[in-house]
Amino acid sequence: MSLFEIPIEKLKGIGPKKGELFRKLKVTSIGELIYFFPRDYSFRGEEVEISRAEGLDKCLIKATVCSPVVTTRITGGRTISRVSVFDQSGSLKLVFFNNRFISGMLSYGEEYYFSGKVERNGGHLQMVSPMFYKTADTRELNPVYHLTAGLSNLTVEKAVKKALEMLPEKINDPIPLEIREKYDLADLGFTIRTIHFPDTQENLSKARNRASFEELLVLMLGLSVIREKKRRETAIVTEKSYLEEYKKLLSFSMTDDQEKACRDCISDMLKNTQPMNRLVQGDVGSGKTAVAAAVAHTAIKNGMQVAFMAPTEILARQHFNTLRKIFENTDISVEILTGAMTVKQKNIVREKIASGEVDIAVGTHALLTDKTVFKNLGLAVTDEQHRFGVSQRAALNSKGNDPHVLVMSATPIPRTLSLIIYGDLDISEIRTMPPGRQKVETLVIDSSKRKRAYGFLKQQIAEGHQCYIVCPFVEDSETENVASVETFAQDLMLGEFSDISVGVLHGKMKAADKESVMADFVSGKISVLVSTTVIEVGVDVPNANVIMIENGERFGLSQLHQLRGRVGRGNVKSYCIIVSDSSSENAGKRLNTMKTMHDGFGIAEEDLKLRGPGDFFGRRQHGLPEITIAGLKNMDILLQAQECSDFIQKNNLLSEKSYRGLKTQVNRFLKRAEDIDFN
Ligand code: ADP
Ligand code: MG
Repeated sequence: MSLFEIPIEKLKGIGPKKGELFRKLKVTSIGELIYFFPRDYSFRGEEVEISRAEGLDKCLIKATVCSPVVTTRITGGRTISRVSVFDQSGSLKLVFFNNRFISGMLSYGEEYYFSGKVERNGGHLQMVSPMFYKTADTRELNPVYHLTAGLSNLTVEKAVKKALEMLPEKINDPIPLEIREKYDLADLGFTIRTIHFPDTQENLSKARNRASFEELLVLMLGLSVIREKKRRETAIVTEKSYLEEYKKLLSFSMTDDQEKACRDCISDMLKNTQPMNRLVQGDVGSGKTAVAAAVAHTAIKNGMQVAFMAPTEILARQHFNTLRKIFENTDISVEILTGAMTVKQKNIVREKIASGEVDIAVGTHALLTDKTVFKNLGLAVTDEQHRFGVSQRAALNSKGNDPHVLVMSATPIPRTLSLIIYGDLDISEIRTMPPGRQKVETLVIDSSKRKRAYGFLKQQIAEGHQCYIVCPFVEDSETENVASVETFAQDLMLGEFSDISVGVLHGKMKAADKESVMADFVSGKISVLVSTTVIEVGVDVPNANVIMIENGERFGLSQLHQLRGRVGRGNVKSYCIIVSDSSSENAGKRLNTMKTMHDGFGIAEEDLKLRGPGDFFGRRQHGLPEITIAGLKNMDILLQAQECSDFIQKNNLLSEKSYRGLKTQVNRFLKRAEDIDFN
């Protein structure tokens, strides 16, 4: 019996309650627990007394809890918990965010080991979100697992240890020996034990390389199965291209790249075999909407209906206005469906969609999938941020046809990575910008010049413009980022910008609140928008001409470029001010690239060179765990896995006996992929 078939509760010490928590982490069987790799490794730090801890990067403190845990609510349903501890040399305050279970985990009068960084905050010493343990551990590298409220790292560690004991002496390795030898990969037994409990850094690297290789290989083989399956779907017949006719509708002539993208899409449709499944990549402002409209036009002329889906209502309205304008002198009917409309209005539009009277229905993803029945849907245009997946696709397939799918994205990905990140999509690129586009002047400053920069922002606002400020961020913590954006904005409102209207936006806000803040910014009610990086990239506020980005060194270049793309949309001269106090040479070099480079594709390649591929993942669900992504410091493993996957497919090796284990892994991936939505 495979360990993947033994439920997690069969482990000693794991009852139904803990089992439920493991299930939350998507660990349901002992096999999955063995493959539940640490997200990181901690070095607990040198053991010191509290009085000597300040200034150390990381330390381990043995101390006794000397206060109750006090938990208070902060905005957005989040909590902050505080507790004091002491040793013979002094006392220390501990701060935890959003951990309601902390009071059950730390008992008054008990002694624990706390690991973290000690900082001075006002008059006292504090540690924010320390790891804590009941016993000291002398190992140098300790696994750090993904957790969920109520499940401690130690519990996971213990469970993993027990699970590892259940492994047979000789494990069947899904990667056949010939491949392991060819790519110099460690065997599975070594890999699994080392990845959870590494003895040396060197062995850990070996184990991680092997694990990453396997994950990438399984992913690539799985994606090829998905692609193969798509080939067997059928689309509505497209008889001819109407591109030339469409071009006459535009007030400008398309750039060569735009035209090429249109032709790519239309020829996909004209093949009349499987539906188009294409991504159009291009910088903000490169004119992707005109391309999507061209494809929609040909689809409609061939008798299809089009769903045009945006991630937010504001963006939907923006697209609606653009499309209405393009098609104003034609018989193509464009309608919008948004949550803000009354039930009656929505019903009227839905009826028109159902009867086929509407050619293009613009709306948010939810509105166009949920309850909306099309007469003859042939094309779904969608935005990368909210990919639309299997269930939504099924909801759109009211007539049993598989619609063509066109995805638009403003985040260029280097070609070498696009295959795994975009998996099954064909890709067109728009690299040239429409003529006359001005560059956003980019400056890199340190915080001594921040005041002057604020002065500049105020001057721009006095001239009637608007600004974005992307606030400093706390590494790895959305919760603390929210706290920080709120305090940062408050400081600005009370200080520097006290006579100017300031708005705040972050990812933890309710969708409706976000939309209303954005609407106020669009209408000009708000002059300065302070936000984390999560704000919608697609929103067009031509009047905003300055973006100021704090902690510039923390971002990848592509991300900075993405942020910069929020300004420079109108006719006014625009600026991007990057604030950074980093003294690192590499950071300085990277940031200076931003001053001279303005092409997203070039910047993406540069980013790949300087920071490795990690930054490019996580923008969509690719199904790769963080450990692999973090481990991808260079491209070697990725290229090797690619080569190996091609070899296996070409020779149809998955059907061979020695590849049975690998095939099982691929099937398991495909089962997970049903939830992942590779669309
Ligand atoms: P994005 O790629 O960011 O979606 P849009 O489609 O919103 O870009 O286009 C940005 C602006 O550029 C729009 O106002 C659009 O009308 C204009 N535009 C698009 N293509 C061209 C072109 N070839 N020549 C001139 N203006 C264009
Ligand atoms: Mg756009």
